[in-house]
Amino acid sequence: MGCPCFKSEDRPEKESLIDASPIKGLKPEDFNIIKIIGRGNFGKVCLVEKKNTKEFYAMKILKKKLIENRGQRIHTITERKILENSKSPFIARLYYAFQTPSKLYMVMEYLRGGELFFHLTQERVFNELRAKFYIGEILLGLEYLHYNGVIYRDLKPDNVMLDSEGHVRLTDFGLSKSGIDADNPKAYTFCGTAEYLAPEILKSQGYDQAVDFWSLGALMYLMLSGTPPHYSKNRNEIYKNILTKPIEPLLNISEDGNDLLIKLLKIDPSERIHTAAEVKSHPWFMKTNWHEMSEKKTVPPFKPKARGQTDTSNFDRAFTSEKLDESFEYNELSPSPNHFSGFTYKDIISIAAASNKE
Ligand code: ATP
Ligand code: MG
Repeated sequence: MGCPCFKSEDRPEKESLIDASPIKGLKPEDFNIIKIIGRGNFGKVCLVEKKNTKEFYAMKILKKKLIENRGQRIHTITERKILENSKSPFIARLYYAFQTPSKLYMVMEYLRGGELFFHLTQERVFNELRAKFYIGEILLGLEYLHYNGVIYRDLKPDNVMLDSEGHVRLTDFGLSKSGIDADNPKAYTFCGTAEYLAPEILKSQGYDQAVDFWSLGALMYLMLSGTPPHYSKNRNEIYKNILTKPIEPLLNISEDGNDLLIKLLKIDPSERIHTAAEVKSHPWFMKTNWHEMSEKKTVPPFKPKARGQTDTSNFDRAFTSEKLDESFEYNELSPSPNHFSGFTYKDIISIAAASNKE
């Protein structure tokens, strides 16, 4: 086919669009880096400007060597595919993915509102109305993933971001497991973040989407109390508590709120709420209009302050004040011996839609 950007078996339905408008592969030097906004295990996330359109994006840059050394190649391709395929308004939008011999690049919408965690640390706790809005939108993101056979596994406050209006977007699918269906209903890998890990993951038992409802409960608990459930300074103590200790009700919240927490944080996954429909019909959500919420029509309880498109004040200064030392790799020749096949991607449909609008 005419397009070098991705293999045809990845996106057969879009081939006709590719033929209609041949696309040149993107390179790092097509972008100006403006600031670093986050760092993770395998690289960093930067606010960037696409030179030819002057549009701003968040660019996740991952080092292939680190990914290979830690055996995460499959996870990285999974993340790219989940983001590529997502049509949910509660999941971060991926516009392009490309690679050089040593790095992978994912170009996503820039979520100016920052991490939910950033706002929670500033306010310590959220009131029930505010927490309910976030838990509701996160639930709709989870429902979408589960419906598409994906277990998120890494639901935690720093992976929940806010857009400029204050709506939720889930990011970071590096740990997600896709391809879960009736023939292959359980996953076995040990991964996730201690405080939000479900007991069955700790026990290395097979697990399913119920793990995400555990994490949803842990996140709800954190929002309403300011600390994760089962918190301790000692990691082994956290594991022990998760495996053995049912949570105590919180004193500052409604009975319905506590009832939902207890049902989400059941140690035995077979007793736990494990469908979005059960959460939606719980009395804590009695006044929630799910139809409105799923169309992003519920007005967010908080609008992040942001002055202009490149504002980074909702991000940790530890990152945004970092000096830019990224020397992008110009003149790298492809194909390289370390090519991550199936990674490169261009969101043809939304780009076609955008150019139709012009
Ligand atoms: P991993 O856990 O796989 O190592 P990570 O933590 O490195 O992943 P992300 O969570 O995707 O990677 O990104 C790191 C941080 O960068 C986020 O916590 C967030 O602060 C910021 N970030 C990520 N995506 C965006 C985005 N689309 N817009 C704005 N900021 C983002
Ligand atoms: Mg992360």
